[in-house]
Amino acid sequence: MSGATEDGGLVSRAPIIRRQPETMQPSAMSARRLLSRLRDLMAGSGTAQDRLDKIVKLIAAEMVAEVCSCYLVRAGEVLELFATVGLNPEAVHKTRLRIGEGIVGDIAAHGRPLALSNAPSHPNFAYRPETGEDPYQSLCGVPLLRNGRVRGVLVIQNRQRRNYVNDEIETLETIAMVVSELVGAGELVNPQEITTASDAGLLPQRIKGTTLSGGLAMGHAVLHQPRLTIREMVAEDPKAELDRLLTAVGTMHSAIDDMVVTSQAIGSGEYADILESYRMFAQDRGWLGRIREAILQGLSAEAAVERVQNETRARLGQVADPYLRERQQDFDDLTNRLLRHLAGKSDEPEMRLPEDAILVARALGPAELLDYGAGKLKGLILEEGGATSHVAIVARGLEIPLITRCSRALQLIEPLDPLIVDGANGQVFIRPSEDIVESYNRSSQLSAERRRLYSEVRDLPAVTQDGEHLQILINASLQIEVPHLESTGAEGIGLYRTEIPFMVRAEYPDVHQQTELYRSILDSAGGRPVTFRTLDVGGDKTLPYFPEYKEENPAMGWRAIRIGLDRPAMLRVQLRAMIRAAAGKELRVMFPLIAEVAELDSARHLLNLELERARSELRQAPTDVKVGVMLEVPSLLWQLDELLKSVDFISLGTNDLAQYFYAADRNNPRLGQRFDVLSPGFLNALLTLFDRCRAARVPICVCGEMASRPLEAMALIALGARTLSVTPQAVGSIKALIRSLNAGRVRVFLSPLVKSRDHSLRDKLRDFARDHQTAIDDVAVGV
Ligand code: PEP
Ligand code: MG
Repeated sequence: MSGATEDGGLVSRAPIIRRQPETMQPSAMSARRLLSRLRDLMAGSGTAQDRLDKIVKLIAAEMVAEVCSCYLVRAGEVLELFATVGLNPEAVHKTRLRIGEGIVGDIAAHGRPLALSNAPSHPNFAYRPETGEDPYQSLCGVPLLRNGRVRGVLVIQNRQRRNYVNDEIETLETIAMVVSELVGAGELVNPQEITTASDAGLLPQRIKGTTLSGGLAMGHAVLHQPRLTIREMVAEDPKAELDRLLTAVGTMHSAIDDMVVTSQAIGSGEYADILESYRMFAQDRGWLGRIREAILQGLSAEAAVERVQNETRARLGQVADPYLRERQQDFDDLTNRLLRHLAGKSDEPEMRLPEDAILVARALGPAELLDYGAGKLKGLILEEGGATSHVAIVARGLEIPLITRCSRALQLIEPLDPLIVDGANGQVFIRPSEDIVESYNRSSQLSAERRRLYSEVRDLPAVTQDGEHLQILINASLQIEVPHLESTGAEGIGLYRTEIPFMVRAEYPDVHQQTELYRSILDSAGGRPVTFRTLDVGGDKTLPYFPEYKEENPAMGWRAIRIGLDRPAMLRVQLRAMIRAAAGKELRVMFPLIAEVAELDSARHLLNLELERARSELRQAPTDVKVGVMLEVPSLLWQLDELLKSVDFISLGTNDLAQYFYAADRNNPRLGQRFDVLSPGFLNALLTLFDRCRAARVPICVCGEMASRPLEAMALIALGARTLSVTPQAVGSIKALIRSLNAGRVRVFLSPLVKSRDHSLRDKLRDFARDHQTAIDDVAVGV
């Protein structure tokens, strides 16, 4: 199944976007009539409560419902009945439901409409005797959404069992947009009551989240407020609104085009790719069609844009596919851009940033992050967004500490609040107390001190106390990371993960685009070796344009070289691009997840075909081609004789090797602490591997995360590792470790221990390091 539909609709894998009607539908006309009467009511005299009372009467009459009720969110996450026609008026301001409780609470909890022909039989039905709702069988409710948050629920009910049709639900959603304007004005419920989350006050708080980009940031909060307040929900003249939409879409497209050109000019290729995928989203005809449809129903252009966003958000929230869920952020970003263009504003964020700005957002698109400008943000806190989100990839590239899944961050954090983003422990301190600030100040001073020490060793050789030379390389996946070679003094790129640039694109890059990408990486590396790994997709790394393939056990499924060998044309295109990019240079290529030598032979056969093709096309070929495998599957350890005869080098992927060694999912937090890579069994296997590689004179480089952690790196060096490929942030601490280590001594210490029965040798290795003044700095690793 492809992400792109026949009309180019990118998000149509989920039933998000329906086709627009060719002409205005009768229901659209009646919705417009209702909207304009609503608007008159809202502009009328009386208190907000009077107006809400009249509004529910009007809705009930127009929608032929016996009941229409409006529930609003109050402090403490409860919904209070604020107005009704049809239910017992005595229940108004008395009936309360928790969010999630009853059908109304369920609509609020999920932020999506619900229509039921037999409401009392629904498992969530919560009977409230004081309302007198017994006789009503059918119910249709929609959330009242304002600035992406549920502020209440609007409900109609009928005595008879009936199925509400799509048009009715849509009309009720459109009406809800207008009613939410009245709610947003703050006369019915004081917005402070909700935003300062009753229990939060302004006390110090600590929230836990998930680190997507490591590091420590201390600074002041800037709330990401891309949304403009929509003043006019209803419009008289749909044609004029459609014209405004057209103009805004046009200016938005040219602004995105300009951004693509600029990002290409400054050489940040992956940003251009991300923006390119935006351009495609922005041209999604389904999306624009839905906005047009909402305008024809009588909404202003802005309200129509917001309505479609609400709908898309509600539907994407139900979709299991993580890729599509992440794309919600891209859509939110586009929506905000379009709203700014409708208001005639530019794309840049308008607020002045403090020097030490830490951005707080519900979710953020990668282009929005880029809009803030490189070097302008110290940290980033998000309520939503997973590891595969584009924003996480860009944040890592820009080295901005990022913690996600901080639920309620926007409720708890006020603008300019002091914040601490602690990536090492996945936590955020809000308005931290003095002692917390002091302790983080100390650790930030220590890190500054460490960075100074590391910069001093930058140009010194990576040689141990007993004269063993090591090579330190870096892992990279984005063009923006290549300059780290220069800043860290690393000798090359030991692992270039080619799948990451593929993941940020909307379309499969063709051979020319891939050639350009690999060429630019080699050029930026300036003659230092770069080892390209062929596509390692599948499992949790999905590509938007790839067929979705559900697997019960994706980590052991159809991924990496398995896909490459089953889709040889795709692998050949990638190899062709690498060969072309490395013309006149050395090409180093390795294949991921090789489980048997026969797989390597098949992959090499494809490489040879491409090398022959390059020669026959009289293209300049690479001066030399070195072929390696990622050793990640334990089965290869029992084919070492054949393997070592067939490769120029081995790259040890300890992340996957440990996962398959222990049969423990590397992404399962419950298993995170269960097995240790510093266990005797695992180290014993590595010892054999290093010994055999040394005997066969096959170079082996460790590129899994183990190499980036000083204590683990010490063990690897003891076992015989002489090349480590690490995260750029870890180069300094690893070099400091090497320069303080006596490799011979630690080998003598560790060799007998790998036969022990211990669960882990971590403590013993730490004791060794302490007793031998070896520099173990566990903090500066990065993710
Ligand atoms: C590994 O498995 O150790 C590795 C480096 O590959 P990745 O983390 O990309 O799976
Ligand atoms: Mg791997």
